[in-house]
Amino acid sequence: MKGRIYNFNAGPAVHPLPVLEEIAAGFLNFKGSGMSITEVSHRSKWFDEVIEDAAARVRRLLKLDENFHVLFLQGGASLQFSMIPMNLLPGGRSADYVNTGTWSAKAIKEARIQEKAVQVVASSEDKNFSYIPKDIPFNTNAAYAHITSNNTIKGTQWPSFPDTGGVPIICDMSSDIMSRPFDVSPFGLIYAGAQKNLGPAGATLIIIRNDMLKRVPHDLPTMLKYTTFVERNSMFNTPPCFAIYTIQLVLKWIEETIGGLEKMEKINRDKAGILYQAIDESEFYRGTAEKESRSLMNVTFRLPTEDLEKRFVQEALEHGMGGLKGHRSVGGCRASIYNAATLEAVKALVDFMQEFARKNG
Ligand SMILES: *Cc1c(COP(=O)(O)O)cnc(C)c1O
Repeated sequence: MKGRIYNFNAGPAVHPLPVLEEIAAGFLNFKGSGMSITEVSHRSKWFDEVIEDAAARVRRLLKLDENFHVLFLQGGASLQFSMIPMNLLPGGRSADYVNTGTWSAKAIKEARIQEKAVQVVASSEDKNFSYIPKDIPFNTNAAYAHITSNNTIKGTQWPSFPDTGGVPIICDMSSDIMSRPFDVSPFGLIYAGAQKNLGPAGATLIIIRNDMLKRVPHDLPTMLKYTTFVERNSMFNTPPCFAIYTIQLVLKWIEETIGGLEKMEKINRDKAGILYQAIDESEFYRGTAEKESRSLMNVTFRLPTEDLEKRFVQEALEHGMGGLKGHRSVGGCRASIYNAATLEAVKALVDFMQEFARKNG
């Protein structure tokens, strides 16, 4: 669409264009209510349909059975770093954490602030977080094992999930939820801030297994207990209505336009494939993640000099491609190619990269 760029932002990030068009078309008068979705009551039938449908789509896409609850909370993925140990790590027990970068480290820090017993059972810090550790010695008596499925900043992703020997996995899937199908049964809790792959900032998707709820201490503040939101269907207080509505439309797009998570994964593999191939074939670009740990969502790479990286980001923007600067903590370049980034956008980026290398190599 004219005037819109190819958006490679890491988050908030690109939405599917049909979703934005549907929002725009119905924005002033949502489903004949005479009000915008941002104006209707969260206790109205209009919003009730939105949140019910959003949760039902999460259930269908991930094949969740009755053992799992689907919640939409606020506070971002970052609040989950605190809520998880507060709710699910009882005194006298210890939890395993795998440190694969900035977000894992923040999760570990928040558990330790609460003076919880945390064991970092594996870390990829020795090689600047460029890989996902293997053969991890998980403790069979751990309360849970925490991992970050996709490391948004370093550009690594678990190719498959580890065998924890029955210990419930708790996973930060903020930057790759709904990008591929997986078996949910080993997971005690999955969380994802919406603004990478699900919609706008402001809502966090939580999928929590029923048996986890027994651990929730009675003396926590009401707003910090998972049970509060399970009992009230995410509506103990006013939920982030607009964000949930957008998530509903994004999930509908995945189900009905794309055709489900198997198809979504194939598209994501195709997109990442051509981008990594362009990097590998050139002497000019260098991928920063080890090949078998490469992310399908965040493609991180370096150019020969920092000066060239600056010019690359600038010139790309002049060619209608935004968001290619690496995270401020690591530098370099990063193309975030979430579900909503199109194959056409990735092809345009590859063309630009080849041209830039030819001119500057
Ligand atoms: C962005 C991100 C976060 C932080 O999310 P907020 O919603 O801003 O708190 C946490 N984990 C991962 C993997 C992320 O990509």
